[in-house]
Amino acid sequence: MPATIVTRFAPSPTGRLHLGHAHSALLGWRAARAAGGRFLLRLEDIDPARCRPEYAAGIVQDLAWLGLDWDGPVRVQSEHLPEYRAALNRLEGMGLLYPCFCTRADIAREVAAIGHAPHGPDGLLYPGTCRRLSAAERAERLARGEAYALRLDMGAALRRAPTPLSFLELGEGRIRCDPARFGDVVLARKDTPASYHLCVTHDDALQGVTLVTRAEDLRPATDLHRLLQALLRWPAPRYRHHRLLLGPDGRRLSKRDKAPTLAALREAGRSPAEVRAMARWPDA
Ligand code: GLU
Repeated sequence: MPATIVTRFAPSPTGRLHLGHAHSALLGWRAARAAGGRFLLRLEDIDPARCRPEYAAGIVQDLAWLGLDWDGPVRVQSEHLPEYRAALNRLEGMGLLYPCFCTRADIAREVAAIGHAPHGPDGLLYPGTCRRLSAAERAERLARGEAYALRLDMGAALRRAPTPLSFLELGEGRIRCDPARFGDVVLARKDTPASYHLCVTHDDALQGVTLVTRAEDLRPATDLHRLLQALLRWPAPRYRHHRLLLGPDGRRLSKRDKAPTLAALREAGRSPAEVRAMARWPDA
């Protein structure tokens, strides 16, 4: 057990918080407070197309209304782009990244030509087209100013990282990782300077997070996060992936399905204590 427990809630401001978020935030907050540890709030607003400042403000407001408090200032990822760039540079210096000029249409064409389309946790696996470019062609396309994403060369990364990789899941024990199933994952998109996977592992390390509490839909991502941590010599936190809070119809709550937001519940006259009770789940 580490001496001080540090947990965090790290929402992306792509909408207002609903009960599922409240559940997640309360789990991390309670774990920290029960152990006299620290609870951090981080806004993962790296994707300018999906994140909005008004949602960020709403998140802070909703959490405070619920009765949560956090230690230190809120970390806003979009204010730290050079730090993520530095981490990418380190991976690049290790020869583990390559520029990928493919559009979605290029990838779809390539996959159709191969005749099968294996998927990983983030969707279609990249067929490796740009990994196979000659140095001259790569240099020429870069010189032409073609837009590119940065991909991790998964084969090279796995050869470099100590294996086998694993993580400690509270209540379950040590879980073996299989990051290869992500394939050559994108770590910086054409329109976004760094990916969720890179920023989240960077910040957990920088902020000394010792226990990551988050929903189980992110559990597959932990395999990749452990790989990045190993490559960049960042410490491995412990993990607690909680069940998704389900709606009355048994389906997961989501923004898409118009789950009631905390703001709507507040406007409907619910008190913070009532909403905390609604967000409770047997494992909370
Ligand atoms: N920002 C991520 C999301 O809102 C969660 C990150 C995490 O907890 O690791 O889905």
